[in-house]
Amino acid sequence: MNKSLLSINDLSKQEILDLIEFARNFKNDDGSFKKETLFPDKTVANVFCEPSTRTKSSFEIAAKNLGCSVVGFDASSSSIEKGESIYETVDALGLMGVDLCVLRHPDSVIRELDEYMPEMVFINGGEGSISHPTQALIDLMTIIDSKGSIDDLNIVIVGDLDHSRVTSSFVEGISNFSFNSLTFCGHPSMSSKYLDPALGRYEPDLDLAVQDADVIITLRIQHERFEEELNLDLDDYKHAYELTSERVQQARGDVIVMHPGPVNYIEISESVYQSDNSVIRNQVANGVAIRMAVLARYLSS
Ligand code: ASP
Repeated sequence: MNKSLLSINDLSKQEILDLIEFARNFKNDDGSFKKETLFPDKTVANVFCEPSTRTKSSFEIAAKNLGCSVVGFDASSSSIEKGESIYETVDALGLMGVDLCVLRHPDSVIRELDEYMPEMVFINGGEGSISHPTQALIDLMTIIDSKGSIDDLNIVIVGDLDHSRVTSSFVEGISNFSFNSLTFCGHPSMSSKYLDPALGRYEPDLDLAVQDADVIITLRIQHERFEEELNLDLDDYKHAYELTSERVQQARGDVIVMHPGPVNYIEISESVYQSDNSVIRNQVANGVAIRMAVLARYLSS
């Protein structure tokens, strides 16, 4: 195992499965999380230079559940706002005794930081549109929890594919497994990277894409990542790409519906979000368990 988790490609299939199994150990039968004092001498900093609710809070809860000290770091009220570079910021945290830095940043800076600071462990908490490895672990865990395994599944990913680091890391992770089919669906202006994918196929029609699906992953439009104003009629968009109950009925009866959050109710209807097919709230809970497993592994290696 490398010193840091920069990408899901850093992990072998066995390491992915081991981390998922390890994460399960941190969950009690009633759904609560174990509280341990495994790392009382370790300090974790959450350096988030983009907004976050689930990822940031779950890393913080996970670190506290493991007995670490946590530095809650708010980029908007830090010296980053005064023009300090991320390098000096993280270097300063290292000098103060931070052992592990969870980093979310709009640019691809994490690899360079990892090389520049051999003593610091980095966990990628979201890298622009590029990658989000712990989200992929959560998604694989949630699928295995519901379906038993990834084998033979028909998986559909629908939404703003081009800007989705959730999709890119999921594809890297799932490439280790023998699923039956992987279908990408989205508005052509948000699917340029997936029109002719190396893995899976592109299907522009959501009604066709969801036929016989076992897993449907929905994604919001990431307005903040568009360089130009998005010239889109949202009603037309919803008509074509919203996952509705009618569309869920085209999938397998036991299909699971996922979403990394935050949900905008444009890409998915409220009734699907609240339906028995939805495992979106399980993903949130698995977030704490996976991040406990990742922190524990990387703090001990
Ligand atoms: N929460 C996910 C992310 O950080 C997905 C999203 O923001 O739409 O990439």
